[in-house]
Amino acid sequence: MCGIVSYIGDQDPVPILIKGLRRLEYRGYDSAGIALLDGSILSSVKKAGKVSELSDQISSNTIKGSCGIAHTRWATHGIPNDVNAHPHLDKTGKIALVHNGIIENYDAIKKTLESRGVIFKSETDSEVLVQLISELYYNGDGKLDFKDSVKAALQEVVGAYGIVAMCSDEPNTLVAARMGSPLVFGVGDNEFLFASDASPIIEFTRNVIYLDDGEFVIVKGSEYSISNINSKEIVTKTLTKIDLTIEEIEKGEFPHFMLKEIHDQKHSISDTLRGRLNLDDGTSMLGGINDHIPSILSASRIYITACGTSWHAGLIGKHLIEEYARVPVHVEYASEFRYRNAIIDANTILIAISQSGETADTLAAIKKSKEAGALTLGICNVVGSTISRETDAGIFTHAGPEIGVASTKAFTAQVTVLIMLALKIGRKKGVSLYRGKDLIKSLKNIDLNVTDILKGINKIKEVAKSTFKANNYLYLGRGVNFPVALEGALKLKEISYIHAEGYPAAEMKHGPIALIDKDMPVVFIAPQDDTFTKILSNIEEVKARGGIIITITDKENDALSSLSDFVLVTPKTHKYVFPINSSIILQILAYELAVCRGCDIDQPRNLAKSVTVE
Ligand code: GLU
Repeated sequence: MCGIVSYIGDQDPVPILIKGLRRLEYRGYDSAGIALLDGSILSSVKKAGKVSELSDQISSNTIKGSCGIAHTRWATHGIPNDVNAHPHLDKTGKIALVHNGIIENYDAIKKTLESRGVIFKSETDSEVLVQLISELYYNGDGKLDFKDSVKAALQEVVGAYGIVAMCSDEPNTLVAARMGSPLVFGVGDNEFLFASDASPIIEFTRNVIYLDDGEFVIVKGSEYSISNINSKEIVTKTLTKIDLTIEEIEKGEFPHFMLKEIHDQKHSISDTLRGRLNLDDGTSMLGGINDHIPSILSASRIYITACGTSWHAGLIGKHLIEEYARVPVHVEYASEFRYRNAIIDANTILIAISQSGETADTLAAIKKSKEAGALTLGICNVVGSTISRETDAGIFTHAGPEIGVASTKAFTAQVTVLIMLALKIGRKKGVSLYRGKDLIKSLKNIDLNVTDILKGINKIKEVAKSTFKANNYLYLGRGVNFPVALEGALKLKEISYIHAEGYPAAEMKHGPIALIDKDMPVVFIAPQDDTFTKILSNIEEVKARGGIIITITDKENDALSSLSDFVLVTPKTHKYVFPINSSIILQILAYELAVCRGCDIDQPRNLAKSVTVE
C-alpha cells in the first residue's frame, strides 16, 4: 500500500511533503521518510512510527532543497523500523527512491548485486531497485544517463510499483513511473507533484494526469515529458480536472474520519442515487452501462469479485440480482478468483467492486476475465482510478473520499448501486412496475432513515459500554442479512481487535453455538420479514444458553424485547434496503466499542486502506 508524495517547484518542499504524507497516512502508517535535493546535495530523514514522529524529527533537523520525495509505509518486506523506511538510497548516497508495491524478483537481483559487492542496508525489496539503478548508471558502460538507467532497471523487475526517484547528479529533476500501483501527476504553474492519490495535490493544482501502467515521467525544472519505460517515444496525455474539496478530505468537527464518514451517510447515499431514479417507470438510470445493456440481458452468468467489505456488498448484490434479474450470480474473493480455473466466456459478466479502484487482486481478476472474453463492469468510488479505467464500463458510487481505514459510507454506496443495478436489469426482464416503484420509494427515504438511526447513537453507546470487555462477538443473520452479519463482524475486528464472526443464523447450531456462554454477546439482525419467525427461534436458542442478546430489527415486538438484552430499532423500510439501515447501526456499534477500548480508530494496527499489493 504505502503513500508516495513528491514535489518540485518554487516553494519549500518540506511542509508540502509532510502535509501530503498526513493526507496519505490512511494508506500506511508504520514508518515514514523524506529526501530532499538541494543543488547536488541529497539529504534524507527516516523514522519508524507515524508521520507525526517524522515531522518532530525534521523540526530538529535542517533539511532543505528545491525538490523532494516522501513516503509513508505499510511494510511488505522487512519490519517497520528506521532503516527499512523509505526513501531508500543507493550505495553512493546520490540516488534516492520511494516505492509503493512489491518487487517479486528482488531476491534474485539482490544476490546478483551482492556478488558484485553491493552491501544492502535494509531488508526491503525496494532497496534492490535503487541499487540496481545505481549499478546500471554508475557501473554500466557509461551509455545510460540517469533517466535511462531507471527505465532499464524497471525493465528488469517483476512485480508492482509506483516510484519516484532523484539523483544528485541531476539537480532539480524528478523521475516517476508506475506499473500496477497508483500514481497521480499534478501539473501546476511551474510546480509539479506526484502522489498516490489526488489529496496532496489539490491545494496546488486541479490539473492532473492519471498515469497508466508502463508510463514514465521526467520533470526537469519547469518542463516535463512522458514516455514508456521501454521506449523513447513521447506519450501525449490529457489533463483531467479534479473536483475534490479540502472539506471532503478533512475531519472537521469529528474526532475520527470513521465517525465523520458514518455521519456523511445522511447525504452520501443520496449522492449515489442522484439523477439515477425514475419513479414513473419504476427503474434506475445508469448512464455508465447503457451501451452494454443487451450484453447484460443476454448473460448466462455473473461473477461479482471483490475483497473485504466490498465482497460483503457483493454478497448482498447476489441476493438482489438473482431476485430481480433471475440470472445466476457467483460472488468470489478476487484473490481466489484470479488464480482458479473459473468458467468465463463471452456470455459472462464480471462486476468488480472496489472503493479505491486500485485493489491489486480485483484488478488482476478483471484482466483475467477480459482476456477470457467477459464484459467487465466496475463499481468504484474513486473517479480516475485504475479499475474504473480498466473495466469496459461501470457505475461510480459517488460517496465522496473515504479516509477512515474501516469502510462505512463506501459500503452503503456500493449496496445502493447494486440495488439500482438489480432493478435496472430486473425491469428490463419483466419485473413489474409496482415492484420497481416500491423499491424506489424506499430508496428515496434513505436520508430520513439515516438521520433517525444517527439520533439513536446514545442507545448504541449503552450497548458498547456494557459489552466492550467481551473477547468474542457473534453476528447472526439470514438471507440478505447474512452478509450484513459478516460485515458487522469485520468492522468490529478491524477497529476494536475483538474477535468476531458472522454466520448464517441457522448455521450457528453447526458449531459456533459451542462458544456461547454468559460472556458472549450475540448480535442478531432480525427484521420482520419472511425470515422473522425462524430467526426468533435462533434467538431462543442463544437465550437458553445464557448469551447476551443484541437485536437489530425494524419493528419492536414483545417476543424480541423479552428475549433480548438490547433492541436497536431502525426505521421500517423495504426488505432489500434494510441491510443499509442495519449495517449503519453495526458501524456505530463497532465504532463505540473501539472508543470504549481506547483503540486507534482511523489507523488500526497492521491495516491500511487500499490494498494495492497481492
Ligand atoms: N515493498 C515495499 C516495502 O515493504 C513497499 C510496500 C508497499 O508499497 O506497501 O517497503
